[in-house]
Amino acid sequence: MKYISTRGLGPITQFEDVLLAGLAPDGGLYVPEIWPQLSSSDIAQFQDMPYAQAAASILALFTGDSFSKGRLREIASEVYAAFDHPETAPLTQVGEQDWILELYHGPTLAFKDFAMQMLGRLFDDVLARRERRLTIIAATSGDTGAAAIDALKDCKNVSIVVLHPEGRVTDVQRRMMTCVSNANVTNIAVDGSFDECQGIVKELFADREFSAKVNLSGVNSINWARIAAQTVYYFTAAAKVSQGEPVSFVVPTGNFGDIFAGYGAKCMGLPIAKLAVATNANDILHRVISTGEYAPSTVTPTLSPSMDIQVASNFERLLFDVMDRDAKALSQKMEQFKSTGAMMLNDREKSRIAGEFISFAASEEETLAEMERHYQVAGNLIDPHTAVARVAARGLRETGALSGKVITLSTAHPAKFPEAVKRATDIHPGLPKQYADLFELPEHMMKAKASADDIKAMIINLQTQAQ
Ligand SMILES: *Cc1c(COP(=O)(O)O)cnc(C)c1O
Repeated sequence: MKYISTRGLGPITQFEDVLLAGLAPDGGLYVPEIWPQLSSSDIAQFQDMPYAQAAASILALFTGDSFSKGRLREIASEVYAAFDHPETAPLTQVGEQDWILELYHGPTLAFKDFAMQMLGRLFDDVLARRERRLTIIAATSGDTGAAAIDALKDCKNVSIVVLHPEGRVTDVQRRMMTCVSNANVTNIAVDGSFDECQGIVKELFADREFSAKVNLSGVNSINWARIAAQTVYYFTAAAKVSQGEPVSFVVPTGNFGDIFAGYGAKCMGLPIAKLAVATNANDILHRVISTGEYAPSTVTPTLSPSMDIQVASNFERLLFDVMDRDAKALSQKMEQFKSTGAMMLNDREKSRIAGEFISFAASEEETLAEMERHYQVAGNLIDPHTAVARVAARGLRETGALSGKVITLSTAHPAKFPEAVKRATDIHPGLPKQYADLFELPEHMMKAKASADDIKAMIINLQTQAQ
């Protein structure tokens, strides 16, 4: 398996280099040179396979010589055994042709655990082998940070620094990050938006001298290993409900990472009819799919903060494919985007995207009403991100854009967003018992302005202190 960067660098052959690098050195994102393929009989076997085993066999297609199949199986078994549901990613039927895929049974109650927990173990193995230390930096709109901290807090060779937009994550989300007391974990509350946090992370990587000095690496959804690990539940879920028919997926989307994993699964041979992008008021992806114009505006805080994003980094991976993997043309487009703040897709690019993706933007009122409606009809609570996706699923079915079997991804446990759930249903969702004392623990965090230079100084300072 070889990997290339969307901006033209490559090929590199080692999965572990892609894993450690995060962003490619030319500023692009790594993608496999060729999508590995699974046959329909390979896919059918996932129907009854334990999740960990499916994960190991799919990841083995991406990891080349970096990990043996046996080691992947060991890691996956340990990781997914810690999830609090025997099926790991259970499906609930909510209509004749409708299912919800529950992806929130991991340690930090959101779908990001699926990939991040694997990533932590893979990092630890490779770093021990290479006798190296890394500083992992992550920007979070809420869930990535907690997932990354939980996955990396026990890694011997990693320090983790997480930037979150101050006051724009829920108390539960913040405490899941700041109540971890391991010495290798640093939380920084940034006076700015998630996009500013993400911009700072990009600037830190772009500063070669700094990034070499602290051995900087990333676990944001631009890290290829996360996408690879997230393809797994598309396969296992489709194998369970498809019975030979193609299925569609509705995915609440921010950074275009999770849904790109669905696209990856399709490229690997999974019969998917449509991939539906569900957004909140921050609807850049809905706009680019419907109009061809990719133009970020300012971020609007919503009830589904993990999708309060305007710059969807992983969209570059899709663009690369719809531009026939012409890295030069893509680099020009991205440069244009950088200098003008917008880019326009041509008709061909637009129609190729429309062949795979449909989209829907849900309003706050629709999101609240859906949480209430779901509670009345199904008798259980859903979180606001899942509600955005359910609004999209029902809306797209009404217009005929979606038909047949539809799986909606449920990306977070309702207890992560108690204010929104309470507002919609008048019920306060309780945290699972492993978090019973979350509000009694002391918090650990620093504060900073939205300035890359300030953050760099803080990181250098931390390193000096640690030595
Ligand atoms: C991160 C997140 C999303 C968006 O995922 P992307 O990969 O950024 O598209 C959706 N829902 C929840 C709960 C999340 O934490």
